[in-house]
Amino acid sequence: MTDVTLVTGDGIGPEIAEATRRCIDATGAEINWDMAEAGVEVMEKTGTPLPEATVESIKRTGVALKAPITTPVGKGFRSINVHLRQSLDLYACLRPCKSYEGVRSRYTDIDLVIVRENTEDCYAGVEFQSGKDDTDELIGWINEHSEKKVREKSGITIKPISVEASERIVRFAFDYARQMGRKKVTSVHKANIMKFSDGLWLEVSRQVAKKYPDIEFEDRIVDNMCMQLIQKPELYDVLVLPNLYGDILSDLCAGLVGGLGVAPGANIGKKAAVFEATHGSAPKYKGQNKVNPTALILSGVLMLRHIGKKAEADKLENAVAAVIAEGKDVTYDMKPHRDDPTAVGTSQMADAIIEKIGKP
Ligand code: NAD
Repeated sequence: MTDVTLVTGDGIGPEIAEATRRCIDATGAEINWDMAEAGVEVMEKTGTPLPEATVESIKRTGVALKAPITTPVGKGFRSINVHLRQSLDLYACLRPCKSYEGVRSRYTDIDLVIVRENTEDCYAGVEFQSGKDDTDELIGWINEHSEKKVREKSGITIKPISVEASERIVRFAFDYARQMGRKKVTSVHKANIMKFSDGLWLEVSRQVAKKYPDIEFEDRIVDNMCMQLIQKPELYDVLVLPNLYGDILSDLCAGLVGGLGVAPGANIGKKAAVFEATHGSAPKYKGQNKVNPTALILSGVLMLRHIGKKAEADKLENAVAAVIAEGKDVTYDMKPHRDDPTAVGTSQMADAIIEKIGKP
């Protein structure tokens, strides 16, 4: 048995977590689930949306499947998800974007993987508010030391890009490519404009690439990358990006394959990995047995591969693909019309997947 933490989340979280757990168990993967809570409901009970016991469980098992969590506006942590990523140092965000037959999309045959750096760039949280004394002091210092001047009363967000963080994420992308039999890594940047941050990123990418002669390497400027992904997505394989571009391009790529309902993801560090859907807790659908469990189930597929259960992962992915391709036992969002009366609920879609797993 393999220990895995199951964080049930809030909103639609518990429903899709249960559907996913049942599908994974049906593959015979022999998971010993350590149930853990997080989110607004547990906050009402315990005063914190992320109990220490949940973080401790993930530290102990080293791997978690996590349903979405609502970020309470204006209370406590800026985001529970961000807090969790920081406390476990989950530096790599992995977002495979793959076309499945039966999912409505403008594109077919997309098979891209986004590897996003999770810890620095403009998302590091180093910010200075307009009009504050510290900010005025910083602007004064910059104007004294730089040829380019910053206007008075500016708000400032710092964009740190370090050698250490760039190296470990680019290495992660190459290791992932090698492990998964992928052919090419593309490093995305804006080094022509931001010479000392993105320029450093590009230089580090090139150095790391030299250590992986078996994998093709190239780089693209981020604006060109966006256009290329819309025009010729088939030319790309694994993309590695700093935090901000990674955030934007992972949504762009999710759009290429049919949107949030089918977009799985993972946040991975040296000591732990948390697998979760890209979408949020959709609170308006809570408790209705209505939403699509596919993104979390596909996150479960990634989790199974991560813990070395490849046969079980393939079984589950094939079953999901078959149910989607048939288009019968799928949730409302996968039907041609959202009010289609033949749409099934979350748990019925899971039942259909489980039935397919049973068939060789
Ligand atoms: P959301 O992804 O929860 O929902 C946006 C819309 O997408 C929903 O109204 C629904 O129409 C659709 N949708 C989402 N998931 C679906 C599914 N599985 N099946 C069918 N349709 C689905 O985004 P939001 O409304 O911006 O965020 C709600 C809450 O979730 C916020 O508090 C946000 O902070 C949080 N959030 C959490 C995570 C996470 O836990 N990783 C990620 C994103 C957002």
